[in-house]
Amino acid sequence: MPQASRHLIYPSALGTIIFGNRVIETFKKFQQSDDTKLEAGGQLFAALNEGRIDVLHATVPGEKAARGRYFFRPNRRKEQQEIKAAFKKKLHFVGDWHTHPEPLPSPSSSDVEKASEIFRRSEHELNALLMVIMGTAGFPRGLCVAWVKAAEITVMETNIGISLPDKRDP
Ligand SMILES: [Zn+2]
Repeated sequence: MPQASRHLIYPSALGTIIFGNRVIETFKKFQQSDDTKLEAGGQLFAALNEGRIDVLHATVPGEKAARGRYFFRPNRRKEQQEIKAAFKKKLHFVGDWHTHPEPLPSPSSSDVEKASEIFRRSEHELNALLMVIMGTAGFPRGLCVAWVKAAEITVMETNIGISLPDKRDP
């Protein structure tokens, strides 16, 4: 029998935000669960359909990313390539994710500054950008999901994890 895939669902003013199983696995893999693990992050790509934002792909740090225990700076060139590649698969750039070495993460002031800057200089279909921070606690508690619009940030309520059929994310 096929195993039901796990999704995290956040109802929001932007639409229903759904994180697919593979994306959740990526967040999990990079959790800073011990002192040696460096901060990680990447971009989020989604299929957009009628009030639904299916986040189907989370990219991972490349070799040229600058990483420390408390910082992560991605390689811009790699990011641009990722956006082009995703666009061919009809996936849109919807925001970024990164890790924090704390159980229940919340956006730092520099996170908000960076996100507002990206919001200003990038093209985005949602009229907002997602900001996802993976802490060290389990799901869904350890995941902070927020969206940024200009200088304003909205952290979403903790969600429900349910199974949902999705052909594109088996
Ligand atoms: Zn942060």
